[in-house]
Amino acid sequence: MKITFWGAAGEVTGSCYIVETDRVRVMVDCGIHQGYPEAEALNRRLPWKQTMHLDAIVLSHAHLDHSGRLPLLLPLPGNARIHATPQTIALTDILLLDSARLQQNDAVHHNRRRQRAGKAPIAPLYTVEQAAQVIARMNPIPYDQPTQVADGIAIRFVDAGHIIGSASIEMKVREGGTTKTIVFSADIGVPGSPLLRDPTTLEHADVLLLESTYGNRDHRALPETLDALTDILLEAERDQEKVLIPSFAVGRAQNLMYHIAGLHREGRIRALPVYLDSPMAIAASNLYLANTGIMDEETLALVKAKQDVLKVPGMSYCTSAEESKRLNDVKGAMVIIAGSGMCNGGRIVHHLRHNLWRQGVHVVFVGFQGQGTLGRHLINRPRTVRIFGEQVAVNAQLHTLGGLSAHAGQSTLVEWARPLAKDKPRVFLTHGEETPRMALADRLRKDLGMESTRPMRGQSFDL
Ligand SMILES: [Zn+2]
Repeated sequence: MKITFWGAAGEVTGSCYIVETDRVRVMVDCGIHQGYPEAEALNRRLPWKQTMHLDAIVLSHAHLDHSGRLPLLLPLPGNARIHATPQTIALTDILLLDSARLQQNDAVHHNRRRQRAGKAPIAPLYTVEQAAQVIARMNPIPYDQPTQVADGIAIRFVDAGHIIGSASIEMKVREGGTTKTIVFSADIGVPGSPLLRDPTTLEHADVLLLESTYGNRDHRALPETLDALTDILLEAERDQEKVLIPSFAVGRAQNLMYHIAGLHREGRIRALPVYLDSPMAIAASNLYLANTGIMDEETLALVKAKQDVLKVPGMSYCTSAEESKRLNDVKGAMVIIAGSGMCNGGRIVHHLRHNLWRQGVHVVFVGFQGQGTLGRHLINRPRTVRIFGEQVAVNAQLHTLGGLSAHAGQSTLVEWARPLAKDKPRVFLTHGEETPRMALADRLRKDLGMESTRPMRGQSFDL
């Protein structure tokens, strides 16, 4: 048997692996490449597609860097299915359709320019129809239910505690007379995070693919982060000013609402208007609320006590763009949570244009800000920024809160791998840039006596 790395190998995006035996071929994840110059070209290329027939696809979770290229697999061979947890399927439906709409809009925009330049038009990476076809081919498998997905290959999803529906995958692969267990950690969450259960550890692996996004550091502790958030909210209330929080729509936005609701329940802050200004975050929140059965004990206890898990008194959803624009004219203390998380598009950019020049306004960064984004630019505290062609003074107070990551830090990754060390599995470090991967390789060797390989894109290994 053999494994090939087609993405998330020396990088954090484009997750895609193929496991082959003498009889079948199964893909795990088919994510989009994001955030570097060659990403666009890479996304259009599936080097193996002409020659390889897939028997099944297994999806760890809905984030686009794991699911965002599934439509390129069309047409899927006859009975091949895409296996995922029911919650991942529901969330992929939201994310993939949105991604397809963006791809189509981008193509229209580019083609206008290309036409003026006398160039041939380009097709969108995929269309809404293709995304819908992918969703129709998905097969739900709940957590902890071993299921055969191809001849000689069975999988079991366990909760990875990263976003709703996210899973680590235990894959049993039979070839000849032997069966090997391959464990795909996929993206591992942070123990103690709100809403979700802690990541599940597994007991046995012959081969381990371990993510290494934060392989070189631990996150700030959550209590410190919540103290800092409380101070900002109290100050905004005192000064009757706005707090703008750029946030990813899935996971981060729900965690923020959970924390703000918690601070209010504990009497640390008074109720203040909180606007969730993102249709996708609203859809994701509804999905979280419909699935409290798979959440952690604290959330279950709140649900049992009929407490609002994701709602503070005074919280509103802004579904339409008009409702979002109306916030410009509303005075007083309020929190606006809006996308995109890195301020490189979405409604947050409009709020920034209207508010950055005001001294009392707070902007709170709660997630990673990629190179070249408005968010990254703002973190460097420029005196002015250009937004929609307009020069805007940066007088607002800018804060960065470090304790809300959805990815395990270095120590958690090591602890997650610890029960597997006794079997001396073959370890591949994935989903991380070179510096974090090397740091994690060091820690695994020192703490667990585990040697590891750092595969690159296109590399295959016999198992
Ligand atoms: Zn993820």
